This record gives sequence, structure tokens and C-alpha cells, in this order.
Amino acid sequence: MAKKVLKIVGRALVACLCVAIIGCARARRVVPEPRVVVRVMIIGRSVEGRDLVAHQVGSEGATVLVIGSIHGNEPAGAMLCKEIIRRIDPLQWQAPRVIVIPEANPDGLADGRRTNARGIDINRNFPAASFRYSIGGASGALSEPESRAIHDMMLTFKPDLILSIHQPLEVVDYDGPASEPARMLAARSGLPLHRLGARAGSLGSWAGVDLGIPVITLELPRGVERDGAEALWQAYGLPIMQMLAETAPDSK
Ligand SMILES: [Zn+2]
Repeated sequence: MAKKVLKIVGRALVACLCVAIIGCARARRVVPEPRVVVRVMIIGRSVEGRDLVAHQVGSEGATVLVIGSIHGNEPAGAMLCKEIIRRIDPLQWQAPRVIVIPEANPDGLADGRRTNARGIDINRNFPAASFRYSIGGASGALSEPESRAIHDMMLTFKPDLILSIHQPLEVVDYDGPASEPARMLAARSGLPLHRLGARAGSLGSWAGVDLGIPVITLELPRGVERDGAEALWQAYGLPIMQMLAETAPDSK
């Protein structure tokens, strides 16, 4: 992974250098700032001290936040997010601005466990009106560093669309005003559109129902990660990118 990040950052640096060189050639003209090609951000640390990493590609238009494996026993989300990062050509992709958090629950992912290292379900830990204290023993909404990192990230970047990738229900679900992109993703991926209903304290409840941000929950099949990254990309990565290119809302 580090090699891949270095490779992408390397390409970004080359791109910026190219812009700078072109700028020098056109002496004395106002040269715009080089656009963000790719940015890798550490947005927090998990309970066990693992980095929570976000990758940004593109700098224009709407902002789309893609979240993988907020439940650690649903590894296909992280795998698919890494494929999206790997396959977007940062020199070509400008809009929408895509921010990907491949491993929203790295401790759970490392242990194959739904919750974080303290046994809390991160996707029940957001400050939704529906939050319930009894779930997973949380002492309150945003009691966990993983949920706080996503929360703070959202306040900073104000996403216009959120896609959270789960398993194993094999549906496209949504909360908030996301019917159009959700229908598109369902049609492209072959998964049925099915409203599951917002769970107490979930990202969909907080961001979708309370804040009115379109939130799509993509529920991939059980064990689909065993088909490998290429198959995952073909079946779901391409439909996601098509959906983003065609239906991402305008930036606010
Ligand atoms: Zn899940």
C-alpha cells in the first residue's frame, strides 16, 4: 500500500512540476495554483493507534465521501475503496472531488470484528437524533476516535454525497435525498434498490436523515472479497465511478 501511495504521490509531484514548468515558460503571466491531484491525509487514530487515512482525488465540483469497512468484519469495502484510489487517474480526474476513507475501522478490520477495539459499533455512534446510549456500551455519541474522525472530516469537507460500503445484504440502500444516485448505482451494479431503514445513531441517520445529505449504503454480497480486487472493481467499482460521474450533485 505504501508503495502505491508513493507512486500516486510521485505522479502528483510530476504533475505539479509540469504545471510549474509550463508556468515558467509563460513568463510574467499569472499562473493559477496547481490543482490538487491527490492528497493523503491522516484524519485521526483508532483506539489501538492505527492511522485513519483519507485520500482525496480531484479538486472541483461536488464533494463525494466514500467510506469502506466501518464494520471490520465487512472487508470488501476496504478492498473496493483501495481499488478506487488505485484506478482513478489523478491527472485526469477533476470532478467531483472524491475523498476515500478505505479503512474506517482499522482495528476491527485487523481482527475481523464488526466493532472497534472497545467493542463499540462505530456506525451506531454518530450524534443522530435517534442515538441510543445502550448500543454497544458507548458512553455517548462520538465517544470513539473513529466516529469523531469521520464527523470532523464531514464538518471540514461538507460532502454533497456519501457512499458507505458494507456487507452482506446485497442491496443498495439510501438515506436522505439520495434516490437518484442510488437508483443509478442499483441499475449499474445489478443490486436491488431496497430501503433498510435508518438505524439508531448510524451515519445514515445522522448525515442522511438529520442533516439532509444524500447517503448511499452499498451492501455487497457476503465473501465477495474472495473473488479478488479485479472482480470487485469490475462488478462494483466501475458502477460507482459511473454513478459519480453522471449523478453527483452540484457543490453547495
Ligand atoms: Zn455493515
